[in-house]
Amino acid sequence: MAELVYDKTGRLLFTEEMRREYTVLIPQMLPIHFKMLEKVFRMRGYNAVMLNVSWRDIVSEGLKYVHNDTCYPALLVIGQMIHTIKYGGYDPHKVALLITQTGGGCRASNYIYLLRKALARAGYEYIPIISLNVSGMEKNPGFSLDLKFIRQMLYGVIYGDIIMNLANQVRPYEIHEGQTDALIDSWVDRLVKDFEVNKHSFRRAHIREQLNSISDEFAAIPVHRTQKIKVGVVGEIYVKYSPLGNNELEAFLRAEDCEVIVPGLLDFVIFKADNRVVDHYLYGGHRFTKIAGGFIQSMCLDLQQDLIAAISRHSEFRVPCTFMHLKSLVEGYLGYGNKMGEGWLLPGEMLELIDSGVANIVCTQPFGCLPNHVAGKGMIRRIKQNIPHANIVAIDYDPGATRINQENRIKLMLANARMAMKPSAAE
Ligand code: SF4
Repeated sequence: MAELVYDKTGRLLFTEEMRREYTVLIPQMLPIHFKMLEKVFRMRGYNAVMLNVSWRDIVSEGLKYVHNDTCYPALLVIGQMIHTIKYGGYDPHKVALLITQTGGGCRASNYIYLLRKALARAGYEYIPIISLNVSGMEKNPGFSLDLKFIRQMLYGVIYGDIIMNLANQVRPYEIHEGQTDALIDSWVDRLVKDFEVNKHSFRRAHIREQLNSISDEFAAIPVHRTQKIKVGVVGEIYVKYSPLGNNELEAFLRAEDCEVIVPGLLDFVIFKADNRVVDHYLYGGHRFTKIAGGFIQSMCLDLQQDLIAAISRHSEFRVPCTFMHLKSLVEGYLGYGNKMGEGWLLPGEMLELIDSGVANIVCTQPFGCLPNHVAGKGMIRRIKQNIPHANIVAIDYDPGATRINQENRIKLMLANARMAMKPSAAE
């Protein structure tokens, strides 16, 4: 068994030996994206496993080890990890946990300490935790994040974004039920294989070709386009994307005969890099941080251009706007220094949806999330004042909130949306 090694502060380290012997458990947020990210981790030599979703047990497990006034995503992520260690069939002496640290002022930077506390309370203090961050926090001898690794993860994000985007635009109208989901699976398998066997898989020209092929194949699915209510989903990153966090919101909206639009993960990555650059102008600090942020930002902006170009090949698809356009829409609402949680990106996503003709929006808010209550819920009134046809509902997610209550509030928003549709289209 791998020896337990601690640093000067008493932190248990993830060692080289553990890298060879341990399974690294990673909480899942977006099913399509994270399947590819899992593969990237495996290619880098980690025996990584993305955790699967299981509803109520995870909440009660989280409540046992995390204080119930902690923000809801922390409770879910920690609950999911401890539940897997207890019941997932792994040897607890051969697992490590990986969690992201944003490095900003939000609580997401501190989930790792809550997780350590929860592990100690549950009797698993010997399980090492790996911090995934680009700020150089909590280094481990068995885990390193170099530029190539960052790029590979980024490509997983961009492919995940285009597949999620196009699937959402095609699935509600498909003539043969299940064809869109089959194409998602097929592309995830193909891309994962490509990552594995093709040494050019991370070249930009190849990525462009792949993005174009994905767009062409989704466009080739036979559809019958009727007018449906389009609903955008925004909010705190975990509850916005994770079916565990939002009580399977997307599935619910689809069952209500809506077309769901979920903004991509790439905008959030660019937002985080942009923060580094903006911080430098607002508060000063080390030039290297600004340069590194600017470099990642420009790499992502190039990839976003490729994604937009690929989707634009087919006129029936709604094309997402660039990050820079989204950023410009926030002017007059929030300053760019508002960066805790999703910060100004959250109203930006609402404004972008409305700007592109999607006025019906569910704004997902986790319990205990002050930043997103300010930048999300707090901005709705202002947006509605400026854009009266905006039809936005803020939904709170917490361990005690009942699904039926959440769905009833969304149904009210949908009733308004149906009324706003032209009579001829509402049939
Ligand atoms: S954004 Fe909100 S939910 Fe997420 S870590 Fe920060 S406070 Fe918690």
